[in-house]
Amino acid sequence: MVDYDEVGPEKIIQVYDPKTKLRGVVVIDNTALGPGKGGCRMTPTVNEEEVKGLARAMTWKNAMADLPFGGAKSGIFANSKEITKEEKKSIVEAFGRALRGIAPAIYISAPDMYMGEEEMRQMAEAHGDHKCCTGKPLDMNGLPHELGSTGFGVAQSAFVAIEHLGLNCDQITFTVDGFGNVGTFAAKFLTERGAKFIAASDSKGVIYNPNGLDYDKLMCVKGEMGSVVKYDDGEVLPGEKIAEIKTDLFIPAAKPDIIHEANKDKVDAKIICCGANIPMSARIEEEMHEKGVLVVPDFVANAGGVISSYIESIDGKEEEVFPMIEDKVVKNTKLMLERAKEKGISARQAAIEIAKERISGSKN
Ligand code: NAD
Repeated sequence: MVDYDEVGPEKIIQVYDPKTKLRGVVVIDNTALGPGKGGCRMTPTVNEEEVKGLARAMTWKNAMADLPFGGAKSGIFANSKEITKEEKKSIVEAFGRALRGIAPAIYISAPDMYMGEEEMRQMAEAHGDHKCCTGKPLDMNGLPHELGSTGFGVAQSAFVAIEHLGLNCDQITFTVDGFGNVGTFAAKFLTERGAKFIAASDSKGVIYNPNGLDYDKLMCVKGEMGSVVKYDDGEVLPGEKIAEIKTDLFIPAAKPDIIHEANKDKVDAKIICCGANIPMSARIEEEMHEKGVLVVPDFVANAGGVISSYIESIDGKEEEVFPMIEDKVVKNTKLMLERAKEKGISARQAAIEIAKERISGSKN
């Protein structure tokens, strides 16, 4: 049974194609601000409940980023590791055709788990209107993932939070969980402002040096040797320890739930700026706030990706990406933190209030 509330979901569309065996679902949560925007994931476990939760997160994210997009998400039930490349392509094409009635009018897709730019090409070509999705390859006017839009936005959000606490960027330490696309770019921009990078993790473990890691050298080590733990000037720790290192700023940028029941009391950071989606539950985020930790929620800090998608959707250029992300993320992080301070509520609560006001047409 679907839980409907004052926001949505407006439409839940099941898609099925007997020929290719495509089975999928599109959830359009809310279109008050524009077509529902959100990626499509292909996993064997994706279900309507999961897609519904992700669609709602996109409603908050797009409203908070002040974009003319509503919130939506889609899922294709398939195990891309167990099907051939051709079978995957047929399924993605069938999904593209199934979107004809709704995209781009009320839904615009994008890559998510196991869906990349080639799948967006296949989806758009099968659909017939390239505006049905973003995240397409460069030759289809896509904006490359390698630009680091999301990590850049996470750093912008962190700068605002640092200032909000009366700290100086060149006097703080920071740690990063997940030295991938989001984590490396966030670390790059923080390092450039003088913050001391003391720990990073990837799937192999943590590298920690309280005197500072050399960002460029760490990038080379990760690129050439495959893992941050191969960096020779620091202590190697087990992966989960990243959340327990004493630091001014912690950036989760890998998997969900890096902060959980068993380690939440060991977290020793002044600010947590969420690059990853759902790095802790909303309840733990509230507990962190009560303990005095400033948590910038995922849907505010990691909006750089969807802002870049917006630019792609209006045929904008690469040069417009960073200025627009900086403008929107800085403005909205400030708005959220001022509201939170004024009302004595958590940053998440303040952000949801602002997003709801925008959706319902109230001014802020
Ligand atoms: P990525 O695959 O480029 O990088 C992920 C990194 O996490 C890799 O370095 C990997 O080694 C590391 N990792 C994997 N398992 C780990 C573990 N158990 N412990 C520590 N590190 C581990 O992914 P990404 O694009 O950087 O995305 C990271 C997170 O940010 C995800 O939660 C994603 O949903 C979220 N996000 C990404 C974007 C984007 O534009 N890329 C936008 C919004 C949110």
